[in-house]
Amino acid sequence: MDTNDINGIAQRLLEIRESLPDNVTLVAVSKTHPAEFIQAAYNAGQRVFGENKVQEMAAKYEVLPKDIEWHFIGHVQRNKIRQMASFVSTIQGIDSFAALEETNRQAERFGRTITCLLQIHIATEESKFGFFPQECSDMLAEGKWRTLSHVRIGGVMGMASNTDNNGQVLSEFTNLVEFFQFAKEHFFSGDPDFRTISAGMSGDYRAAIQAGSNMVRVGTGIFGARDYTTH
Ligand SMILES: *Cc1c(COP(=O)(O)O)cnc(C)c1O
Repeated sequence: MDTNDINGIAQRLLEIRESLPDNVTLVAVSKTHPAEFIQAAYNAGQRVFGENKVQEMAAKYEVLPKDIEWHFIGHVQRNKIRQMASFVSTIQGIDSFAALEETNRQAERFGRTITCLLQIHIATEESKFGFFPQECSDMLAEGKWRTLSHVRIGGVMGMASNTDNNGQVLSEFTNLVEFFQFAKEHFFSGDPDFRTISAGMSGDYRAAIQAGSNMVRVGTGIFGARDYTTH
């Protein structure tokens, strides 16, 4: 581990936090980085962390302070939900009713309620997961989710295309914000829990905030580049 990396964490974190509007929540994306990096960010006041591998997140949960709010931000494999249901705060990236149902079932076993964000496919790229907007609104219209008492639908999540075309990125984020507003009006009016628009990573969080995001997920900008060669 390069000690320059760990020494810079607090400063980069604070710079980003200061640049964010007050209504925007920062999720520090710590995937692939060691627990020491998370502890450094924690010591600088950060409490919300994002991981995209269940086992890795569970191992970090074991050794780190228990007031950390863990967000699972990856694609949710249904058979892995069980392994995080006892402690995860928010599952971002719910992209099927089945995943919502399974989260509800596992949360109930622990007497918990887990916040879920509906991942919406906004990118033009094929590879990104998520509901298509129509598919998601059909699922919401069907109404079965209303019977799930151990999940709280907290809003939406989306990832823009990985492109230098800022206009395209901005318009993809705008589509997500418009879907949020549509869903709020039709299915969640008067529900204060449905309030989160999770959009924006290190390279595009400014554009996301411009479009109306109120939760950004920043990894590289805080912790430095990820090294996947050891994983
Ligand atoms: C890795 C990841 C991020 C953070 O990406 P950076 O470019 O390192 O900021 C955000 N969201 C999701 C879903 C991710 O998988």
